[in-house]
Amino acid sequence: MDACHFRCAEGQAFEKGHFEREQTRTCALFDKTGAAESIDCSLFISGAAKMTAQNGFGQILSPLSVDEALAAMAHGAVPIAGATWVMRAPLRHEPLPGQLLSLSGLNDLHDLTIDTKCASLGAMTTHDKLAVALAPHADLSGLAAAAGNSANPGIRRVATLGGNIATSAFAASDLAPALLAADATVILATASGQKALPMETFLASRAGLGHGGLILRVEIPRSPRNAAHARLPMRKAGDYPCAIVSISVSVLAGMIADIRIAVGAVEPTARRWTALEDRLIGTAYDPARAEAEARKLTDGFTAREAIDAPGWYRLSVLPVLLRRAFLKLQAGV
Ligand SMILES: Cc1cc2nc3c(=O)[nH]c(=O)nc-3n(C[C@H](O)[C@H](O)[C@H](O)COP(=O)(O)OP(=O)(O)OC[C@H]3O[C@@H](n4cnc5c(N)ncnc54)[C@H](O)[C@@H]3O)c2cc1C
Repeated sequence: MDACHFRCAEGQAFEKGHFEREQTRTCALFDKTGAAESIDCSLFISGAAKMTAQNGFGQILSPLSVDEALAAMAHGAVPIAGATWVMRAPLRHEPLPGQLLSLSGLNDLHDLTIDTKCASLGAMTTHDKLAVALAPHADLSGLAAAAGNSANPGIRRVATLGGNIATSAFAASDLAPALLAADATVILATASGQKALPMETFLASRAGLGHGGLILRVEIPRSPRNAAHARLPMRKAGDYPCAIVSISVSVLAGMIADIRIAVGAVEPTARRWTALEDRLIGTAYDPARAEAEARKLTDGFTAREAIDAPGWYRLSVLPVLLRRAFLKLQAGV
């Protein structure tokens, strides 16, 4: 077998033939065609992966290139980033994946660059890193607030951008509406090459992601807009929000020149509120008026009924969240 390299927790590269026999757990080694051969390995790739292994996961692979990752995914391996969603499979009464693929060794996925034209955010960027890096930039501050207020500090240190947006079953993602408002594009690696999908298109197609699409990064065009994010958790920090409004707006002489508004957690998938955008463009920047207009247009949503909140409640708080998002920007526009 023509072995590819995989990497263990300590960052040490190894391949078939160089492997030490005292290791006890199982990893797989893939050749260039993706064919796998089991080897023993107790060097798990991260704390989270170690925990999931003890809870019944099978093999954990740690590829060093996107091609190796795609080959493993083609054979059924499930990507694992921060593991904060994957590890909760039993709570959702879902089976644990038999073979996991750590993305931690894919260096490009950890890159984060911000220049005057584009913010390029690697899929493995954690929420806390996003929050810190984006906060100084007015046009990116909605995404910074989404990342910095999601979940709790422990989760924010490990949960990633890619993991947050990959799961179609996760309705309350904070990053999805913020990325919609920011006009983001998702860059995917697939067996047939790289694809750049506008966030809307990505969200509509991501249910099939498990069959081969690997999120590499998200790109956001820089703009002279201001952005804000308003969310409502039901009880305390750490709860999922029952409704989210993200806005990105440019204001000229007190009038709204352009605006993108995105709503999360209300329907199963985040989406733009284009009817409200159309109503507000060309009008004065006025939080109270924006709330009043929003109240007339909530019937365009089919709100989720779920254990945290009934659908009618999600709709009733949307206009208030919109006003709060407007108020956050009022001093700066
Ligand atoms: C108590 C708690 C509260 C939370 N509250 C919030 C909140 O308020 N707001 C919020 O937005 N999030 C919240 N989260 C986080 C959220 O629920 C997910 O757990 C998290 O976003 C998943 O990110 P991850 O990196 O851990 O993904 P993982 O669990 O590693 O993976 C999740 C899914 O994404 C896939 N995946 C991961 N990376 C990629 C990639 N690069 N390409 C393709 N597929 C990929 C995996 O295969 C898996 O299917 C909370 C989590 C917890 C535990």
